[in-house]
Amino acid sequence: MRLVIGKTESSEAGFRDPRLSSSLSLERAEQLSSQWKGTNFLGGTAKNFIDGEFRESMTDKWIEVLDPSTQTLLSKVPETTQEEFESAVEAASKAFQSWRKTSVLKRQRFALELQALIRQNMDNLANAIVLEQGKTFGAAQGAVLRGLQVVETACSIPTLLMGEKLEVSKDMDTETRKVPLGVCASIAPFNFPAMIPLWTIPMAIVTGNTLVLKPSERDPGAALMIAELCQKAGLPKGVLNIVHGTVPTVNAICNHPKIKAISFVGGNRAGQHIYDLGTKNGKRVQANMGAKNHAVIMPDANKDQALNALLGAACGAAGQRCMAISVAILVGTAQKFLPDLIERASKLKVSQGFEKGTDFGPVTTPAAKVRIEGLIASAEKEGGKILLDGRGIQVPDYPNGNFVGATIIEATTSMTCYKEEIFGPVLVVMKASTLDEAISLVNDNPYGNGSAIFTQSGPIARKFETEIEAGQIGINVPIPVPLPFFSWTGNKASFLGDINFYGKGGINFYTQTKTTTSLWRSDDAIVAGEGASLNMPTMK
Ligand code: NAD
Repeated sequence: MRLVIGKTESSEAGFRDPRLSSSLSLERAEQLSSQWKGTNFLGGTAKNFIDGEFRESMTDKWIEVLDPSTQTLLSKVPETTQEEFESAVEAASKAFQSWRKTSVLKRQRFALELQALIRQNMDNLANAIVLEQGKTFGAAQGAVLRGLQVVETACSIPTLLMGEKLEVSKDMDTETRKVPLGVCASIAPFNFPAMIPLWTIPMAIVTGNTLVLKPSERDPGAALMIAELCQKAGLPKGVLNIVHGTVPTVNAICNHPKIKAISFVGGNRAGQHIYDLGTKNGKRVQANMGAKNHAVIMPDANKDQALNALLGAACGAAGQRCMAISVAILVGTAQKFLPDLIERASKLKVSQGFEKGTDFGPVTTPAAKVRIEGLIASAEKEGGKILLDGRGIQVPDYPNGNFVGATIIEATTSMTCYKEEIFGPVLVVMKASTLDEAISLVNDNPYGNGSAIFTQSGPIARKFETEIEAGQIGINVPIPVPLPFFSWTGNKASFLGDINFYGKGGINFYTQTKTTTSLWRSDDAIVAGEGASLNMPTMK
């Protein structure tokens, strides 16, 4: 990512030089650019989406979005100005006055329409993700599907919002209802540019809130496409707004008095800052953050299944998943699996995401590549063993891509490559003599997003499940992300806040509970004398 002021020579040259772009990418970029209003993928600009309109920013600060496989300039993202940000919050605030009163059936109808439109446009969204983020097409489709599942869950909003009622005394009832908060904000990371906006857009909106979303400045295309789909699904203007940028926009969100709640997903540095500033300003904040997820491989594991699952979870999406398995603990004789693991990893194909047979694509930026390679080098210096080295790989036809090959390092807990979230296709391998030793090792790690075990033994699985502290546990499942009728339940240093994303947590995060206690004395009952209507009663 580069922050540039105005137009630059490099960006013009970057786009015009066809050698920098692959023909597969160019074809998809042309297709997308002709169809969508909010952004284009041929060197144009990403628009703000304010009050139902895609508006060109007046800023003089632009951030370049480069194809991570080629460095071709795809688009430029504005650092949304303070004035534009204010108008987005104003639009959301105005829209809230009517949207909060819209019937739950209308909000459900919106979710139903949106899910159909996302399903129809799944490949378009996946194309945008491959271009801007670098995933393989299959991984991008999977990520859209995981976001779509949140929209599908939001379609049950009438049931999800139901309150409670009890006659607490003669003729006196107390009832609860969940009411919206107001204007909410969502701040998204680069690694799931459709899925994470879809964690918050449907949940915030069907509960009656309005939303200001800030996508990652590295890949805003999919979020802008989703905004257009929301519009097509009949969402009134101002209910969803999109602004762009970096720290100044994020700080504006945290400081704005009209914003009542912030959903953040991203790294720990930003998450801690947003949590501190947002809560200091009286906002409700949920922050899903970084991770170091361990898999424990027991000697009785189904070896083939465990090794494939391990590699998929470590290297899939180039390791840029907060639920990636980044540490494998081989217990006892499972250590014999290591040569096979290395051999399988060495066969993974790294290339551009549209290329057939690609297992994983590039990492997000040249800087990310340098950082990942630096962490691999640190292991060498600190006494670790590089068992498979993905540094410096050459990918045919893509000399300019940010590629890092699959890497396996034998390390200990004191090494930097173990302590830091690498966020690349790098698996740290450790050895333990017993299950107890492995469990202590996992629990000593400050993060708590997820952890998995591979075993054929029920009692071992049960012990693991009971004793592991991490919030999302997989038993023979490498990436145990719950479907969205449950909530995301990362914990420890992977989460700040009290209420989880989506599922029942999502409903609770985006609503506050009101109770009403009423007294209608039965002695006061009078019989109303209305005429009969024979029509089927309908609600709107
Ligand atoms: P990031 O923290 O760099 O950026 C996330 C968002 O915060 C972006 O919109 C960015 O503009 C903003 N931001 C960045 N630095 C900031 C700062 N100093 N102050 C204020 N705002 C700032 O994260 P990323 O690199 O885009 O995403 C990768 C990280 O996200 C990884 O750590 C990954 O584990 C985490 N992640 C967590 C989950 C989860 O559910 N736990 C899911 C996906 C990604």
